[in-house]
Amino acid sequence: MTGNGFIASAREAAARLNTAPPAGYREVEARYPFLASEYYLSLIDRSGGSPENDPIWRQCMPAAEELEDEDGLPDPLAESAQMPVPRLIRRYPDRAVLLVTGSCATRCRFCFRKRFWADGGELADISAAELAAASAYLHRTPAVSEVLISGGDPLMLPSNDLRSILDELSSIETIAVLRLGTRVPVTRPDLITPETVAMLAAYPGLWLMTHFNHPRELTPVSAALCGEFVQAGIPVLNQTVLLKGVNDDAATLARLFRQLIAIKVKPHYLFHVDPVRGVRHFATGIAKGLEVLAAFRSNLSSLAVPTFAIDLPEGGGKVSLQPEYRRNGKYPSAVDGHLIDYPG
Ligand SMILES: *Cc1c(COP(=O)(O)O)cnc(C)c1O
Repeated sequence: MTGNGFIASAREAAARLNTAPPAGYREVEARYPFLASEYYLSLIDRSGGSPENDPIWRQCMPAAEELEDEDGLPDPLAESAQMPVPRLIRRYPDRAVLLVTGSCATRCRFCFRKRFWADGGELADISAAELAAASAYLHRTPAVSEVLISGGDPLMLPSNDLRSILDELSSIETIAVLRLGTRVPVTRPDLITPETVAMLAAYPGLWLMTHFNHPRELTPVSAALCGEFVQAGIPVLNQTVLLKGVNDDAATLARLFRQLIAIKVKPHYLFHVDPVRGVRHFATGIAKGLEVLAAFRSNLSSLAVPTFAIDLPEGGGKVSLQPEYRRNGKYPSAVDGHLIDYPG
């Protein structure tokens, strides 16, 4: 769709920015269509000449590398194999993910669910029958106490539809926590009204998970919106994806994470890119993430340090990774680096 604040063609988006569309964009768009909000495109910095290295541009504009990836898998985390009922992914005994829509306010080129929108398809909004089936499963599976509401982006749903979903899930006595993952506060913050914030705040166990990847995304508008959630009593956490050429250096991420804790948003996860087809040119390698974490050790508040994690292939789940501080099983002394055992 074009209009209503969205642009659905890379050529049109580039024209708005007075620049040429990326090389090969037609073929890339035929496979993975373009969609971005005018707002998100407005964050691209045009002052430095060609915007191709701009961190916002790289996250939303098609790139030829998307079609050069031969080895990536459509669904490396085996989400489809872990769905006991359609749209509900259960990888752990106590948590499940519910996919409520395929719609997003901007299509991220590094999307790990790119399979849902490849070749022009899009996962539809969850139907009443699908919601009923998911709810029936959760009713008979009391071990699940938390539902991650995902997609797509749940905050793209009409607010009455979202309320019906939240009401349905909250009516299940064994569900104590709802974790709503969204990038709308980053890509289209104006869509979230005070009424939506109040509606979400009414669910006692609801946590919000935002997705800021770069300090330039944390505009005054986005920061103010996060403030509204916090003010309403909703805990706000953030997940970031470590992206080559976007945010893969410790200084950029430290700036982002410091700005987040200053508005009471807790950096929760830093993810390495999954081996998903069409996104692997964003992968930095695990070593880069560990290097970033090691740099944080001495120069970033623990409030601001997220857990660095990878999602194991074939649905093995998330694993957090830490840089190794020991050498030969011992710790280097701060004084002269000699190796010492941890006493006790
Ligand atoms: C990430 C994820 C969860 C939640 O895991 P946490 O470690 O609690 O963040 C649950 N189920 C699936 C399928 C996931 O991908």
